Amino acid sequence: MPAKRVRLLMMNAALGPLDYRVPDGVEVNAGAVVVVPLGPRQVLGIVWEEDRLPAERIDDSRLRPLIGVCDVPPIKAELRRLIEWCADYYCAPMASVARMVIASSAALRGAATMTEYRLTGGMPERMTAKREQALAALEGEQASLRELAGMADVSEAVLRGLVNQGALEPVEVDCDRPYPQARADYAVPELSPEQAEVAARLVAATSGGGFAPFLLDGVTGSGKTETYCEAIASALERGQQVLVLLPEIALTEAFLRRFEERFGAAPVQWHSSLKATERRRAWRAIAAGTAQVVVGARSALFLPYARLGLIVVDEAHEISFKQDDGVRYNARDVAVMRARFERIPVVLASATPALESLAMADSGVYERLVLPSRFGGAQLPDIQLVDLTEEPPERGEWIAPPLRRALLQRLEKGEQSLLFLNRRGYAPLTLCRDCGHRLQCPHCSAWMVEHRFSARLACHHCGHEMPPPKACPECGAADSLVPCGPGVERIADEVAQILPDARVTVATSDTLNSPERAAQFVAEAEHGAIDVIVGTQLVTKGFHFPELTLVGVIDADLGLEGGDLRAAERTYQQIAQVAGRAGRGAKPGEVLIQTRHPDAPVIAALAAGDRDAFYEAETEARRHAHAPPFGRWAAIIISSEDEAEARMAANRIGDTRPRLPDLQFYGPAPAPMALLRGRYRFRLLVNARRTAQLQHTIRQWIAAVQHPPGVRVGIDIDPYNFV
Ligand SMILES: [Zn+2]
Ligand SMILES: [Zn+2]
Repeated sequence: MPAKRVRLLMMNAALGPLDYRVPDGVEVNAGAVVVVPLGPRQVLGIVWEEDRLPAERIDDSRLRPLIGVCDVPPIKAELRRLIEWCADYYCAPMASVARMVIASSAALRGAATMTEYRLTGGMPERMTAKREQALAALEGEQASLRELAGMADVSEAVLRGLVNQGALEPVEVDCDRPYPQARADYAVPELSPEQAEVAARLVAATSGGGFAPFLLDGVTGSGKTETYCEAIASALERGQQVLVLLPEIALTEAFLRRFEERFGAAPVQWHSSLKATERRRAWRAIAAGTAQVVVGARSALFLPYARLGLIVVDEAHEISFKQDDGVRYNARDVAVMRARFERIPVVLASATPALESLAMADSGVYERLVLPSRFGGAQLPDIQLVDLTEEPPERGEWIAPPLRRALLQRLEKGEQSLLFLNRRGYAPLTLCRDCGHRLQCPHCSAWMVEHRFSARLACHHCGHEMPPPKACPECGAADSLVPCGPGVERIADEVAQILPDARVTVATSDTLNSPERAAQFVAEAEHGAIDVIVGTQLVTKGFHFPELTLVGVIDADLGLEGGDLRAAERTYQQIAQVAGRAGRGAKPGEVLIQTRHPDAPVIAALAAGDRDAFYEAETEARRHAHAPPFGRWAAIIISSEDEAEARMAANRIGDTRPRLPDLQFYGPAPAPMALLRGRYRFRLLVNARRTAQLQHTIRQWIAAVQHPPGVRVGIDIDPYNFV
């Protein structure tokens, strides 16, 4: 009798598919996650359909048996198809995509308990300063000793002392304890007639089932969230799961609160800063179908939902949905594919949709739902340009007189202002006044950015940090280094000069780097504890501050520099989004945009509030350039720690490029970021007509070229990042 065998997708990109023997009495179905021997090691695999994963046939006698089947539901066929599609479309190993599905190794180990600790109310016999600090900080908390030590900022030894003294007690906790239940009818909101109409369409699609992609196109402040929440309610009523993707972890906190107010319980979160125990708990609840609504970053898209009924991608135009390392996927596009495989609706919500999404709506592939006005009668803000060539700021300053005056007025009236500059830190460049030397990252083609809050110079590409040198490293002159140009910290300093009494807060990924800090910022801004917010793109979306009536854009031209094909679109989106923060309450909002190019099409469209004119001009430019959605791009990045080796590899790839009428090649040439994290980089761009078999051609071409082991070749399909 032939052995019972299974084909496995191995969870290691270096391995191809392998066959194993199923021991007698063991049942495994497609999608099961199994543990198998590989040499002396134990590795993970997923049981796959043999005909979809070709492999060399090994004789029965050489098959090794499975070691075990993990105590988790099998990966469903719909998700297996998504793994195949992603690997194929993004030219990535299937194992790398599958690893995003099996995103918690602890979750595979089955049911478990853990020990947490909490205060007993008792006091230690001997009190010390550290013990007192711990007792004060841990009121109402329950977590592992390590987590509690972090919260109280004391060592674990201090806490163990408190355990011995009976002031802290252990509690056995079920690792998979259920989440609080959300209720569809907890607090049903009053919708405007426009919202109600859109909500009814989404509810009908959700309850009807079937693949249905929507573009929810609504101006900032129009209440898109309330509207799609009705579709979430509909899914909840039928016991289905919902996934809401958000672009930034800093946004999650505000969303969680609104969600809890609507449904009476917080949704389940998924993002990179979850603790391992939280990841495990979320993953198992998602796979079991008990996590009702999951709110997460792009990686939440690959989780093994048992009963997914709806996907919402909020702020769907955001570029942070594009992953730039590992599997280079765009979560917005993968969300639509997942909805297609699962046969469910997907909602892309945005006030400034990506051109690609608008094109899909125009061609009828996506159904377009429009919310044209702000909720509750709030007006869209008044937008004015400040021509910096006519009204320049003082030398060494960046806030021109009109914006200065507007800031003063707001402070007098007790209203809030927001200044937007998409540059973290104090100054983007530090140079020597004596010899002109510029401080550069030793590992990247990038300047070191001064951060005064942390008193460091940092590279924003590799994270390299150093203290600011006292003397110029090139000529040795003392105190000759000067900051050039502004970052948000420097603008905050300037605001403090203009408004010495104002409470100024800098909001960037450096200052709002945890959900707790983001929540604190939101609370302070909402309660009027901040007069002026100075922020990067982080503040362009999601936040809703009723007292905020002035938005100042420090440098509207900044995003237009550099030859990125989406530069104009991104500038439009960022400024339109940040402008949308103004006047969301009862008071009208004003937006001042500082620019040196008031006639540039994107700036003129912003000033005129003419979104259609911008999209039309941009569409024509893209059509002309065969750029998306009219053609496609792929980037091939060849890198090595050895510059000559990288150059040779790039040339080999360039020399063997296929000659096809529907593909155009640019390069190889040194990438704009020619040195990144110590690796020399060369880049080749491929522009393809829509008819081209882009991925198939690239895969065959790249696979045929051999390289030394130090060379890495990255393929980026539909790239967003052109550095
Ligand atoms: Zn110098
Ligand atoms: Zn660097």
